Amino acid sequence: MEYAENILGTIGNTPLVKLNKLTAELPCLVLAKYETFNPGNSVKDRMALQMITDAEEAGILKPGGTIIEGTSGNTGMGLALAAVVKGYKMICVISDKQSKEKIDILKAMGSEVHVCPTDVEPEDPRSYYSTAKRLATEIPNSWYVNQYDNPSNTKAHFLSTGPEIWEQTDGKVTHFVVGVGTGGTISGVGSYLKMKNPNVKVWGIDTYGSVFKKYHETGIFDKNEIYPYITEGIGEDILPKNVNFDVIDGFTKVTDKDAAVYTARLAKEEAMFLGNSAGAAVKGLLQLKEHFTKDDVVVVLFHDHGSRYVGKMFNEDWMREKGFID
Ligand code: PMP
Repeated sequence: MEYAENILGTIGNTPLVKLNKLTAELPCLVLAKYETFNPGNSVKDRMALQMITDAEEAGILKPGGTIIEGTSGNTGMGLALAAVVKGYKMICVISDKQSKEKIDILKAMGSEVHVCPTDVEPEDPRSYYSTAKRLATEIPNSWYVNQYDNPSNTKAHFLSTGPEIWEQTDGKVTHFVVGVGTGGTISGVGSYLKMKNPNVKVWGIDTYGSVFKKYHETGIFDKNEIYPYITEGIGEDILPKNVNFDVIDGFTKVTDKDAAVYTARLAKEEAMFLGNSAGAAVKGLLQLKEHFTKDDVVVVLFHDHGSRYVGKMFNEDWMREKGFID
């Protein structure tokens, strides 16, 4: 018999799938690391489990404890899976721009969810960063995960996602392209691939309204770069410790409209029903066209599943209301 001891045993070992139509104008082979095959339907299951395991080993997370995290949904889902299996209480603190589906899913997985305003400074006591930190001081036997600065986030991708991509491509991968939020995925995978082959190029996808690209190019944290945007999961108004700028060769920014339009096209043209950072990543790839040659093997990572965006990128009224389609 072949079975997993519990659902956590099914995390990782996701497939690599060729893109055939949307990137046909590129000269290279484009392969998608398809992370929706994880049990929580996103890449975040990997780092959630790693962060919990490391906290248990360090004695920070104790039996019967409460896990608290500020999360846009996917990390919350990954943490919630592990919390259910391992017997912890889970509290997710989320910003109000996140889709209702994400909130309902977290509740379905037994989490308590606190919704905070998006348009406030990170230091504001109402922000989701501040609220998560405050709850962790008020609730006894609780642990604030802090995926932004927690090194186990990057470690998970260095130990699993990176090696999988290296092995699945027989070491032929030449470029890794991925959306950047906490930075765990790009830093962990990027440093693993560069350790195996220093010539591998690593590109980050950023959004308009986020600080990453400008900071990478100038070393300046420019507050003028910060304004509200629609794309979920990528871009930040802070510099998380998990973004290792040294392993990143460059960033390209993708507009909210392009991210939404390409997410819808991924479903219609590649039969890939994915979240909106996947659309951003595909458009980013096309923007990077001049960097690729015919022998290149480009791996792009798709973080999460389309089901969390049915009221948004997959809803024509929403797309029209935002001016993304005529
Ligand atoms: N896309 C989605 C949908 C996400 O939830 C996240 C995580 N914030 C990312 C991309 C970025 O991944 P990372 O946090 O590892 O940089």
